[in-house]
Amino acid sequence: MCDSQACTTMASAPTRRLFLRMSGASAFAAALTGNLAVAAEPIVLPKPQNALSPDAAATSLMEGNARYVSGVTRRHDFVHEREALNNGQNPFAAVLSCADSRIAPEYAFDSARGDLFVTRVAGNFVNGDVLGSLEYAVVVLNVPIILVLGHDRCGAVDAAVKVATKEATYPGMIHSLVTTMLPAVEKVKGKTTNLLDAAIAQNVRDSMANLVAQSAIIQEAKKAGKLKVIGGVYRLSTGKVDLLES
Ligand SMILES: [Zn+2]
Repeated sequence: MCDSQACTTMASAPTRRLFLRMSGASAFAAALTGNLAVAAEPIVLPKPQNALSPDAAATSLMEGNARYVSGVTRRHDFVHEREALNNGQNPFAAVLSCADSRIAPEYAFDSARGDLFVTRVAGNFVNGDVLGSLEYAVVVLNVPIILVLGHDRCGAVDAAVKVATKEATYPGMIHSLVTTMLPAVEKVKGKTTNLLDAAIAQNVRDSMANLVAQSAIIQEAKKAGKLKVIGGVYRLSTGKVDLLES
C-alpha cells in the first residue's frame, strides 16, 4: 500500500520518462523536419519495448531470425497491437529489402506490425525515394538501426550481371533499374568464381555505403551513436540471414 501522493508519483513516473524522451526526440526531429514530426509522433511510445540501442536492435533482429529459422515463432496479438498502433509508431529497425516475393522481412525477423519500417525496391539499392524514406525513419521515428537486406538468387542483381557479362537489355524501366546495380557487379567481376553471389554481397555493401555517403541525416545519427547501418543476405533455402562484416 502507499499514500495517494506516492501512488500518483509511482504511477506517473514511467509515463513521464516516456514523455520526456519523446519530447527530446520531437525537438530533434522538429528542428530538421518541421511538421513531419507533429504528424508522426505519439505522446507516448506505442511499443515501449522497441526503444532499443543500436546494438540491442541488432540482437533483437537476429534473435527473431533465429526463431523464424527454427520454426518456433511468436504468436502475434493483432487486436491489441492494432489499438496500440492507432496513434503512432516507433519501429525498432528500418529494413531496405529487395521486392522479391520470397523475402518477407516481418516473417524473417519474427516481428509484428509497428516493429519494422520496411522500404523495398527490386535489388535493394539506394535511390532518392528510398533515401528519403529511410531518413524519415531515422529523424522522425528514431530507428536505431538500418539493415540492408539482400538475398541469394536475386533476379535483379542477376539481371545486372547479365548486362555486365552478356550485354543483356531489358524493356521499359527495367533496364534503368538494373543498370543502377552495375557498379557493384563491376567491382567484383573477374575476382570471383561465383559472380552472382559476390555481386549480391557487393550490392548490399554499396547500398550501406551510399546510405551514409548521400545523407547528412544518417551521417549525423551515426556520429551521435544513435544509429547503426548493417547489411545481410537472406538465404532462401533456410531463411537464415547472414550478416556481412562491416
Ligand atoms: Zn532480389
